[in-house]
Amino acid sequence: MNDTLFLQFWHNRHISSSPHFSAESYSKKSADNDSVLCLNNGFSNTYDLCKQHGDFYWIEHGLGNDYLTDVDFEMYKATELPINHGKVYASTWYTSQLYHIWLLAKKYPDIEFTCGGTSTYVPLEEMPSNFKYTNKTVGQFFSDNKKYDWKLDYPVPKDRALHLSYSFNNHCYWKKCIFCNFSDLAHIVKDYPERYEFDGLYPDNPKYLLMYTPSYSPRDLQEFLRYPADKNTYYVFFMRASDETLDVFDEILSKTKIRPENIFPVAGIDATSDRILDIINKGTNINNYIKFVKICQKHNVKALLTTILGWPFITEKDIEDTQRFVDGLPNDYSKINIRLNKLRSLPARETYKYQRGSVLNIGPFSAGFEPYLSEKQLEMNCQIRDILISSGKSVVDSFTMFLEKNIIKAV
Ligand code: SF4
Repeated sequence: MNDTLFLQFWHNRHISSSPHFSAESYSKKSADNDSVLCLNNGFSNTYDLCKQHGDFYWIEHGLGNDYLTDVDFEMYKATELPINHGKVYASTWYTSQLYHIWLLAKKYPDIEFTCGGTSTYVPLEEMPSNFKYTNKTVGQFFSDNKKYDWKLDYPVPKDRALHLSYSFNNHCYWKKCIFCNFSDLAHIVKDYPERYEFDGLYPDNPKYLLMYTPSYSPRDLQEFLRYPADKNTYYVFFMRASDETLDVFDEILSKTKIRPENIFPVAGIDATSDRILDIINKGTNINNYIKFVKICQKHNVKALLTTILGWPFITEKDIEDTQRFVDGLPNDYSKINIRLNKLRSLPARETYKYQRGSVLNIGPFSAGFEPYLSEKQLEMNCQIRDILISSGKSVVDSFTMFLEKNIIKAV
């Protein structure tokens, strides 16, 4: 084995709590038919470039449905590498993966570790001298800006459903929301390919392709029409439900040959009040969110919305708007899922000024601060949560940190 490794993580993800995954794809017999094999295939975009420098190596990363708290530290400590000296480059998507690599850097002092990827790097102490983080792309790091095909090799069991990613860019075309972390990453823009290289990959395995950009632009949505329409390939993508995207979204759903059950659009709505949407610079409104759901309904596509609780400046008007939002959702549509996330900010974000609550750390890395909520604000956030949960018009994702009332705490 080469003494340079490109390390990628895999983990099992249970489907029962994730609306991305459809039960249909699991009707197939599987060794573990309640989970998806998630491959964090961060080097796929530069596969041949990495191959020139070393070997690929996959390790398991114990990770549950909550990427911040559901982590298997014992597994990370037990990880062994096949080399004792040399270089390791790691594609880290989550803070827990940075921590995993930090533990390896301590265990293998003669290996130089370099991490990069979508993980947010906020170290709370001095790092070991053999541990580095870069926000450069692989091409920038190796000063090689040639185009490479997307490729992946992993010994995938035939009976497993897979979650993979295919990145276009990591840069949001909107980039104005005051709480969002995406501005910190190196700017990667990949041209749309002549053909999608994953077409025909593992033909017998159901594949969930995260077609990644933080938020689809109208042009990205148009590109959807070129995606392979294979019945085993499911597409997950993020979009901002806004004036400029919704008409294109409607049009592509009318024209695509991909089956509706294979399409999973995720709209980050982030607040259910026009007033808060203005404060956080989302550039859209509640009526557009209702329109997004109605477009999904028209095309029989599952609508997934993610919102944030914990805004510390809720007023009665925001609670009324949440009710207006819920009232505007269709009564007779069974495919709306709403995921409730908790506001958490890193120091560079504008929302950090609201963060006076507890800090969540993973080893020596900060995963963000929780918001300060007064008793009154806690109560109002809970009212918004209860309106969303009890509307009966949607399934509120069990992923949520807010299902149990006592999970939001005043500080
Ligand atoms: S639209 Fe989404 S990705 Fe873009 S800045 Fe806002 S929250 Fe971030």
